[in-house]
Amino acid sequence: MVGQIPKELVEELRKAKKIGVLTGAGISAESKIPTFRDAMTGLWASFSPEELATPEAFARNPKMVWDWYAFRRDMCAKALPNPGHLALAELEKRYEQFTLTTQNVDGLHQRAGSQRVFELHGSIARVKCTDTGRLLEGEIPECDEPPPLHPETGGLLRPDVVWFGEMLPAEVLQESAKAARNADVYFTIGTSALVYPAAALPVEAQRAGATVVEINPTETPFSLLATFSLRGKAGEILPALLAALDD
Ligand code: NAD
Repeated sequence: MVGQIPKELVEELRKAKKIGVLTGAGISAESKIPTFRDAMTGLWASFSPEELATPEAFARNPKMVWDWYAFRRDMCAKALPNPGHLALAELEKRYEQFTLTTQNVDGLHQRAGSQRVFELHGSIARVKCTDTGRLLEGEIPECDEPPPLHPETGGLLRPDVVWFGEMLPAEVLQESAKAARNADVYFTIGTSALVYPAAALPVEAQRAGATVVEINPTETPFSLLATFSLRGKAGEILPALLAALDD
């Protein structure tokens, strides 16, 4: 062990050419962005994510869904990347092939400097027309009764995120699955490994022969399959891993 990092993992990482990563809400927990379960507090305590993050919820009560996302958009904009995000951006610089797939919509990987990021669930910073899917360029228009309308299409604006029951962007999923199958080492970080199809990515990597590393303070359904299961916070383990590589 080098600190908390197994020596065998450091050796694997030194040999590796291709790295794949999957992140979930846990990597942003140390940036004070709550996971879905934690997010249902205060103003939103009486709702479940399924009551707010679905097309049906938006059709039923667009203002409430818009307001919830506006609240979270503001929180994400104010949040800062944490040492876990920064360590992944640094790790990317050391490999020819490095693919990071995130289930997060907060944009913190890009703000930390990660270059090749696949957003499986979209981005909370973008909004699009409900009818045509056309993205809004520029500022979100002010209006008295939100959601505002798309200035070109006239349709209601909605966040450009993937809601429960909606399809994931096909190309993003394809590229992510390819990266999982090709990886020498694959990381699954801060995700409960319950939400498919994202949860299938580490399994695909493991089946294709990758060394799979899980980083999570708690056990997940994937823990038993992982080659290395590192119990702890991403913001502590990832910098320790970089330090072990430099040792
Ligand atoms: P999830 O299913 O990815 O679970 C969060 C996991 O993170 C848990 O297993 C938890 O043990 C782990 N974790 C907590 N703190 C950690 C830390 N410091 N380091 C490493 N791991 C840690 O996430 P969810 O909350 O169930 O959300 C499901 C989906 O909702 C996400 O995949 C995403 O699409 C969306 N979501 C995104 C954000 C965001 O963009 N930050 C926030 C909430 C929800």
